[in-house]
Amino acid sequence: MKSEQTTDIELALCTRIKQVLGSSLHIRHVDAGSCNGCDFEMMALCNPVYDIQRFGIDFVASPRHADMLLVTGGVTRHLEMALEKTYAAAAAPKMVVAVGSCACGGGVCGQTYANAGGVDKIVPVDVFVPGCPPRPSAILEGILLALDKLDGSRSAVR
Ligand code: SF4
Repeated sequence: MKSEQTTDIELALCTRIKQVLGSSLHIRHVDAGSCNGCDFEMMALCNPVYDIQRFGIDFVASPRHADMLLVTGGVTRHLEMALEKTYAAAAAPKMVVAVGSCACGGGVCGQTYANAGGVDKIVPVDVFVPGCPPRPSAILEGILLALDKLDGSRSAVR
């Protein structure tokens, strides 16, 4: 039942996670070179206001346990390999959400000798969430869009 604290996006997320993944969504956060603004907004998803663990969403330490990568920051050159290896290690269906203007296209740093630019320069991206930084509710909507894009062939439902 919908409570005053539960938004339509949160309800849709809850339903979609059950349809697509069965019961829960595990996320690995990858900071590929952000200023930490996007990371603070992302971590707000776990505070008492958003409390995403109510919906079976949680952040995990290993990409091997993750269904989705949330990547922040334009990718700095020294973190390119770390991002590639994290993507390679992630479990199917390997959804990737680029969070923030830097992750979407390089942001304020752009593409330089030290910065590869957007996350899609290094790994495939399913959803781009713009903003500097994006609000937690926008990040939630990005997660929902990534689940919506998951087709049958990539579905992890057993
Ligand atoms: S988009 Fe803005 S808040 Fe996010 S990492 Fe880039 S500069 Fe920082």
